[in-house]
Amino acid sequence: MVGADRTGTSCVRVRVPSKVNLFLSVRGRRPDGYHELVTVMQTVSIHDTVSARLDGSASAAHPAARRFMDLAFTQEAGPEVPPGGDNLAVRAARQLMGLVGVGTAQRDGEAMVPVTRLHLTKRIPVAAGMAGGSADAAAALLALNELWGTELDRNELRDVAAELGADVPFCVTGGTALATGTGTAIAQVLCRGRYHWVVGISEQPLSTPAVYRAFDEVGTPGEAEPDAVLQALRTGDAEALGAALHNDLEVAAFSLRPELRDARDAFLDAGALGAVVSGSGPTVVALAASAQHAVEVRERMQGVFDRSEVALSPAGGPELALG
Ligand code: ATP
Repeated sequence: MVGADRTGTSCVRVRVPSKVNLFLSVRGRRPDGYHELVTVMQTVSIHDTVSARLDGSASAAHPAARRFMDLAFTQEAGPEVPPGGDNLAVRAARQLMGLVGVGTAQRDGEAMVPVTRLHLTKRIPVAAGMAGGSADAAAALLALNELWGTELDRNELRDVAAELGADVPFCVTGGTALATGTGTAIAQVLCRGRYHWVVGISEQPLSTPAVYRAFDEVGTPGEAEPDAVLQALRTGDAEALGAALHNDLEVAAFSLRPELRDARDAFLDAGALGAVVSGSGPTVVALAASAQHAVEVRERMQGVFDRSEVALSPAGGPELALG
């Protein structure tokens, strides 16, 4: 039964955080071309919002009508974000539709009625190593699972998520997690305290596949372990965390964009506890000792990045609001 009928819900809004990689080691390349990773990810307080609503809920409320549902997608986002079926939020919606039997039937000669409207408000930098697309896919799954009353639990949603992309299962849960394999096998880890960041954003994106290709040329598979990061998180020690930040992909990102190394070093000169490229970059994140310190570091970095933001981690997980 759809959400409109079950709970009176006709609109679900999901606010979903981005992520930073506190640790990322590339273990090697598999025969299928994917890379084996060990990474520690944490959500950070730069959010996208995905809302889903039923349009014409009277017909949608009828279980039989669900089979004829179609999706309409709109977004407030820059031109670099695909507006249609290539958008990860739409791909996630289609995946869930196929799985739970929503909108799978075709009426003879009749177009399906677009009764589910999905809207994305984009704030997370795009192709920036902050899992923006993955966050939107996770948010779409959570929103539509609620709106359609399909009642998949978090584990089932994570299975659907894993088919959409390596970071999507993490984005379904959020928090702080150790991920292995291609990044889809995740375990939550203990994190005490909150951490203050300066997020240095470059408008010129870096494509994740290009960074991995560069890694295959200039990098060597690492053997670093995440123990120091995990210990710092367990004890809530920001100074130790700053010293332990690590990313094997930095060498690849720096080979494609040498100015990122200078930006990372400028953060350290500006007094950050540590600084590292997040994921495949080009975002560089720097850890500060306090909220005030983050503002000061950001001020000292004027002109280094296209823009920068202060942010907090961990930022919890996706938050659902029903309307
Ligand atoms: P990750 O950190 O998971 O490697 P990323 O932050 O580097 O990801 P995304 O912001 O997810 O990268 O964008 C990667 C590409 O995915 C974009 O260049 C864009 O073409 C495409 N894309 C599809 N859907 C979205 C979306 N909802 N938001 C952003 N990009 C999207």
